[in-house]
Amino acid sequence: MSVKLSSPQIMELEHHYGAHNYHPLPVVLSKGEGPLVWDVEGKEYYDFLSAYSAVNQGHCHPAIVDAMVEQARRITLTSRAFFNDQLGPYEKFVTEYFGYEKVLPMNSGAEADETALKLCRRWAYDKKGVPEDQAKIICCEGNFHGRTITIVSMSNDPDSYAGFGPFTPGFEKIPYNDIDALAEALKDPNVAGFLVEPIQGEAGVFVPDDGYLKKAYDLCKANNVLFIADEVQTGIARTGKLLACDHEGVRPDILILGKALSGGVFPVSAVLADNEIMLTIKPGEHGSTFGGNPIACRVAIAALTVVKEEKLAERAEYLGKIFRDEMNAFNSDMVELVRGKGLLNAVIIRPKNGKQAWDVCLKMAENGVLAKPTHQHIIRFAPPLVITEAQLRDAIERIKKSILSFE
Ligand code: PLP
Repeated sequence: MSVKLSSPQIMELEHHYGAHNYHPLPVVLSKGEGPLVWDVEGKEYYDFLSAYSAVNQGHCHPAIVDAMVEQARRITLTSRAFFNDQLGPYEKFVTEYFGYEKVLPMNSGAEADETALKLCRRWAYDKKGVPEDQAKIICCEGNFHGRTITIVSMSNDPDSYAGFGPFTPGFEKIPYNDIDALAEALKDPNVAGFLVEPIQGEAGVFVPDDGYLKKAYDLCKANNVLFIADEVQTGIARTGKLLACDHEGVRPDILILGKALSGGVFPVSAVLADNEIMLTIKPGEHGSTFGGNPIACRVAIAALTVVKEEKLAERAEYLGKIFRDEMNAFNSDMVELVRGKGLLNAVIIRPKNGKQAWDVCLKMAENGVLAKPTHQHIIRFAPPLVITEAQLRDAIERIKKSILSFE
């Protein structure tokens, strides 16, 4: 018989027995449906984080959960030592959906980024003719691509890399949204790829200038360098298009997806590319025990089908404008700037009377809206894309009320 624990008791268990590698808001969630979640005491909240944009399709979407449960009753994992009857159909579906020749399935976003880095290096040696071990990948200051040693080797955020050296060589950081810096970096003939987030999510929803991605892509093409887009956070309808790169008509050479590829019910990530790149990796040279497992395949097909059927990109575009218009028109000393695209937005908080973004988030939670600061002064607002206009407007009123309580 299980004893029902209170929120403080559960938080204490995590604190006592879990590693202290996160600093969550003091809310213990036990149920979710669409854009709403409930804590163990039954209080209802709008979820404005969506598990870092994994739950674009809404919590516990019935079609996605059904796909998972149905598959879980048949077979869950075969490994890639054998074929399974779900992977081939999923690979056909997902490559046609995004318009690529091949997919390589993984689980987490970080794994998919690592996969893209390996693919890029291998392509450089096999196709571009870069001398052995000399391949260089350009990345951007302020990036966030995950937490592995190689990935934090690209980071310039001390919270990510400090104390974890020695680091993986072969990366050069340039300022984000700086096309001249990219042009300069591309002069090195050993450059194999340019890895970029179309909008820097974790950095605080930094939206580059219009035209940046297209110019960067064209420069990469002119220099025989792969344009690699990390759309783990921006992809799958979040920014108002299926991919954030679609805003500028850019088709990345390597596309990295994760998070909402499963609607948040299961870890599923993927790397998409054409044969010339993907077939440079041969059997036995890369993989993952769980990558491409039958549950992941079923879940991803269901999750991507929901995105199209429920027109989530169009919803994000429409609702995002309402959010930014409302927040821009809102008069408060604490709101320094509102920025974003689709339903990936951020509000920069100007501290007042010692109150910061964290305090605003605590107050919002009290008023039934969950969001989390990214860095000290930025709050990201990214609700599930299934939120209705009425729910969004209600949540915006609660956000304003929370901020005004500090005036
Ligand atoms: N890439 C981007 C752009 C991300 O935002 C994230 C996570 O926030 C990752 C990669 C890492 O994904 P995961 O946490 O699934 O490893």
